[in-house]
Amino acid sequence: MNKPIPLQAIPIATVEAAGCGETPVIRERGQREVFCGLTGIIWLHRKIQDAFFLVVGSRTCAHLIQSAAGVMIFAEPRFATAIIDDRDLAGLADANEELDRVVNRLLERRPDIKMLFLVGSCPSEVIKLDLSRAAERLTRQFAPRVAVLNYSGSGIETTFTQGEDACLTALVPSLPVLPATAPAELLIVGTLADIVEDQFLRLFKAMGIDRVAAFPPRRSTALPAVGPNTRFLLAQPFLGETARALESRGATRIAAPFPLGIEGTTLWLKAAADAWGIDPSCFEQTIASARDRGQQAVDRQKSHLEGKTIFFFPDSQLEVPLARFLSRECGMTLAEVGSPYLHKQHLSEELALLPAGTQLSEGQDVERQLDRCRDAQPDMVVCGLGLANPLESEGITTKWSIELVFSPIQGFDQAADLVELFTRPLRRRALLQAPSLPTEVTS
Ligand code: SF4
Repeated sequence: MNKPIPLQAIPIATVEAAGCGETPVIRERGQREVFCGLTGIIWLHRKIQDAFFLVVGSRTCAHLIQSAAGVMIFAEPRFATAIIDDRDLAGLADANEELDRVVNRLLERRPDIKMLFLVGSCPSEVIKLDLSRAAERLTRQFAPRVAVLNYSGSGIETTFTQGEDACLTALVPSLPVLPATAPAELLIVGTLADIVEDQFLRLFKAMGIDRVAAFPPRRSTALPAVGPNTRFLLAQPFLGETARALESRGATRIAAPFPLGIEGTTLWLKAAADAWGIDPSCFEQTIASARDRGQQAVDRQKSHLEGKTIFFFPDSQLEVPLARFLSRECGMTLAEVGSPYLHKQHLSEELALLPAGTQLSEGQDVERQLDRCRDAQPDMVVCGLGLANPLESEGITTKWSIELVFSPIQGFDQAADLVELFTRPLRRRALLQAPSLPTEVTS
């Protein structure tokens, strides 16, 4: 759920220089308004098509998952909540028995499930359960038909997109070994919509990189191999632990900005092309038509954003790449770019591209940040659902950050859609403020 976590509000703790050397960072540790890591199940269950996510939690967790994902269920759901409630307080043995009973019933009914994630949550009954032991026990019982893994989506340990990081980190030890004698392979790391992933695979193949795999894969039975000859490109900026786990298996990260917008996509693809020694003219020839088509589409739309000011509240960790895109390609002014966590190493190429002096913030003290936001009077605010309604009621136009995670926004062909996601709230407000309302207003 969108959960305020009351920690003792402390004054702005530190202001220090970031990657570009001059950018000040406000670090705050106070009350925050963010989703927990269970949210990642919404996009992960769509990506790994034979996996099932069983939240071990409370009715609150069940409500979050159901309400966030309910509208997207078209067939048999691939997530559920095993509610470990008060009656299990009688003893951990009961809770373990209950969990085993739920898993047995689920796997009997659903032979299509090949991988089961037990996802931990906040309630104290759940924290007392050792889910890694439960996963081992159930793996022994169901091997080799089903692999059972576990990770935490608890709001105490994870925010919003960190659920994906925890899930992929749990998956890394299961990846087969890529022998040291094997040719180099490129691994795209981070959930992308299939349509976007296919576009990237086509571009890599066309420039001569044909040993490419994606992680997570679409099927749990097609896990990519990893080893010292794996070079990986992060497709999402919130995968710090996953990157570390891959590096511990010998893989090497290719440093790059993230593939948002024309510039970000070009630099992301170029980083891999350079690592593979692809001739610059071959690279240019390969991407030219998709890049130019994307650029023209962006150019047609960006006038709606030029000169407008935007303020990012911390939510998804996509904030820095989005801010870079909106300032450099759409002419927006950045009032403040907040992120739950600024991974200096993974963001260094992004930070170097931000305008000098951009106000960055890490973590949150929501009341202080709201004050800064009101002072800045931005034309648009990117924030979580919990802040959007109050800000809208104050007359501030908002964009839900969750929509930017759910939508296919990476790559050349999606760059104009990304612009559109930001122009739509401005158009909606203009329509609502117009003297006579049209009959239909879309969000
Ligand atoms: Fe709420 Fe924690 Fe469950 Fe998330 S994991 S829905 S924060 S109780």
